[in-house]
This record gives sequence, structure tokens and C-alpha cells, in this order.
Amino acid sequence: MKADLALAGGGLANSLIAYRLARRKPEIDVVLLERGSSLGGQHIWSFHETDLTPTQKEWLGPFVVSSWPRHEVRFPARRRVIDSGYHSLTSARLDEVVRGALGDRVRLGAEVVDVSTHRALLADGTSIEAGAVIDGRGAVRSRNIDVGYQKFVGQTVELANEHGLRGPVLMDATVPQKDGYRFIYVLPFASRRLLIEDTYYSDSPALDEREILRSIGRYAEAQGWHIESVVEQERGVLPIVLAGDIDAFWSEGPAGVPRSGMRAGLFHHTTGYSLAEAVRLADELGERGSFESGELYDWIRRRSIGSWRRQRFFRLLNRMLYRAAVPTKRYVVLDRFYRLPEPLIHRFYAGRLTWIDKLRLVTGSPPVPIGRALPCLLERRQTKEQRRLEGQKSKEIS
Ligand SMILES: Cc1cc2nc3c(=O)[nH]c(=O)nc-3n(C[C@H](O)[C@H](O)[C@H](O)COP(=O)(O)OP(=O)(O)OC[C@H]3O[C@@H](n4cnc5c(N)ncnc54)[C@H](O)[C@@H]3O)c2cc1C
Repeated sequence: MKADLALAGGGLANSLIAYRLARRKPEIDVVLLERGSSLGGQHIWSFHETDLTPTQKEWLGPFVVSSWPRHEVRFPARRRVIDSGYHSLTSARLDEVVRGALGDRVRLGAEVVDVSTHRALLADGTSIEAGAVIDGRGAVRSRNIDVGYQKFVGQTVELANEHGLRGPVLMDATVPQKDGYRFIYVLPFASRRLLIEDTYYSDSPALDEREILRSIGRYAEAQGWHIESVVEQERGVLPIVLAGDIDAFWSEGPAGVPRSGMRAGLFHHTTGYSLAEAVRLADELGERGSFESGELYDWIRRRSIGSWRRQRFFRLLNRMLYRAAVPTKRYVVLDRFYRLPEPLIHRFYAGRLTWIDKLRLVTGSPPVPIGRALPCLLERRQTKEQRRLEGQKSKEIS
């Protein structure tokens, strides 16, 4: 089989690339290879209104299943409504729209076992020769990057009664704090339908799914919501980057093969979210003249390194959160953040902080002990022994 461009992995990033190219460059013969039985797995992806440009939002329109004009956050001592839009996509809609646009150029049940610059090899022995291959098979653990984790389990539930929410609750941090910074994330899809997600900014990727599901049930009951049925469930363990070596990251994996999405390191270092970066990559690919493998590789690698450099400050904040703040007191950092002006909050999520924003974020009464904050200023990777000692200190303090 032959193609101009083979996309290995039919998740968020490659599906958006395939869709955008089908719209902007129909002359390019793209094949999208996904090992699952549908595109995009089991996800709800959300983004802030201010993360994307109007043009990007417009072409993403067919994927969006819900939009809200405002959202709120809750902390033990205060609530705040933020007058800015929030939007969600589902993998079911992604699958429908992309398969509609690409037809038989989407190959499901196609397990890619090997990729090289001009070939994707499938488990059934099919070899797909292509002008270029983009590897978008999702996040891989890298030995060159230190991370903390944002982990969660979420359930989309149908309630017996109306929930009464007027918009998403992006963080309800009034819940007991454990395993790092904990909050509940709630998206109201219909008057009786909610996504309720129990989330942790934790040092460990381990998820006690059964216990978390119980705590979602307890949370719903405490809000007066009576769960009638569970419609869907999702889980995630996202990397929150603390430090690392982006050049070494790119030296891992198949040499010279362009990558996309999490695999290309294209995500927000403090939220672990990749939707906005995936849209931008698809958007710019849709405007490209050349799909020559070597040029694509250089271009995406440069983008990824540029994104890594621009996020230096975010990694500093992450180190403050994970290495300086006592785990059970991490919520104080977020509580303080959410007292800042709305435009700054928007720029934070969009990854476009100004130097004045940065100053505001690190000055004032520090929410973390200064002695523990200072070593975080240097972007140094920790040795195993340092991590063990830090963990011990945190336990003693908390
Ligand atoms: C549950 C969950 C919710 C999230 N919510 C948000 C959110 O609200 N907003 C946001 O911006 N980010 C969110 N993220 C983070 C991030 O955006 C997602 O992980 C996103 O799906 C990453 O996109 P990707 O294309 O890099 O990888 P993925 O979407 O994970 O796609 C990888 C694809 O490759 C396929 N694949 C893997 N190996 C092979 C193989 N050998 N052969 C063929 N196919 C293969 C997989 O089946 C998968 O479909 C979420 C992550 C999770 C896990």
C-alpha cells in the first residue's frame, strides 16, 4: 500500500492532522492507522476559549459537543466565576467527523509495529510505503524528562434529578486534600448529565481506580446528585514536566521520524493538556507546501524545542508545586493563582504569559516555604536519592 503521508496512531493529534489536510490539501493522499476499533479512544477533551484563534475555533467547530460561556473554581474559603468560554470534544464525535472526512483512508484495527521515515509496518505484515510517516501513537515515558502527574478518573453519569449547575466547575478543591493537590472537575453536558472527575496533582502515577470511583459517588451524593447510571468512564495519567533535556528526548525513538501530539512533547507543561498544541500543529501543517519526511521532522522537532523553551517558566512553577509545596498544601498555590486577574489566568492556560505576569506569579507572600523554593529556581533533574529525601521531608512537614 502507498500514501503521501501515513499517520501512525489515530488519536487526537493525528486525527486532527488528517482532518485538516483532507480539508486544506485534498490532493495529499493521507492514511490514518489506528489499532483500536474507533479513533480517539475514550476521551473528553476540553479547552479554554482563549487557547485558540478564531480561525482555529471555527474549523474545530464540528468536533465540539458542548460550549459554556463561563466556568467556576471553588476553594475552601472562596468561589470564583470566570467569564470566559470553555468547550469540550468527545472521542465519539472525533471518530464520526474524521471518518466522515477521510472515508476508507482511515484504517482501524491497524496495529503499527514499526515506523521508519518512509514506512509503517502493521502487525498483520502489511507494509505502508509513504512519502513521510508521522508517529502520533501517544505519550511515552522518557528517561530524559522528570515529571509529576496529573491523574484522574472520570465518569459521565446520568442523574435522577437536575444538577442545577450553570457551567463547568474546573476545580472544586473543597474536597479533602490527599495524594497531592486534589480537586473535582465537573462538566454539565445536559440538565441531568455530568462528567465528574476526581483529579490529583500527585507525585505518583498510581491510580486506585476503585477507591476513586467510590469517592466520585460520595461527592455526587454530597452535592445532592443521585446517580442513575454511568454512561462512560475515562482515566488519565498526564505528565507535568519538572525538568529535562528536550534534545535527548528527541534522540529517543525511531531516528528521523516526525512525531505529533504527546509523543512530540507538544503539550502544556503545567496541565498536561495537548489539544491546543494539536490544533496548532494541524493548522500549520494544513498550510505547508512540503511533506518531505526530513523537512517535516526538522520542522516539528524545532516546534517542539521552541515550545519546550517557551515553557521554562511553567516548569519552574511545577517544581515549586511538586518539590517545594507540601503535598497536602499544594491547593494553596492554586487558590492564590485563582485570585489573579482574569486576563492573566487566560494567558496562563494559553501558554502566553508576559514577563509582568511571571513577576506577579512569583512575587508577593510566597505560598511555599522560601528555603524549599530557592533550589527550584535551577532547572536540575533530581537523582533518585534526592527524590527519596524530598518525599521524606514532605511527609515530616505534612
Ligand atoms: C482521559 C484523558 C482526558 C484528557 N483530557 C484532556 C483535555 O480535556 N484537554 C486537553 O487538551 N488534553 C487532555 N488530555 C491530554 C491529551 O490531550 C490527550 O492525552 C490526547 O489524547 C493526546 O493526544 P495524542 O494524539 O498525542 O495521543 P492519543 O490521543 O493518546 O492518541 C494515540 C493513539 O495512538 C493509538 N496507538 C497507540 N499505539 C498504536 C500502535 N502501535 N498502532 C496503532 N495505533 C496505536 C492509540 O490507540 C491512540 O488512539 C487528556 C488525556 C486523557 C488520557
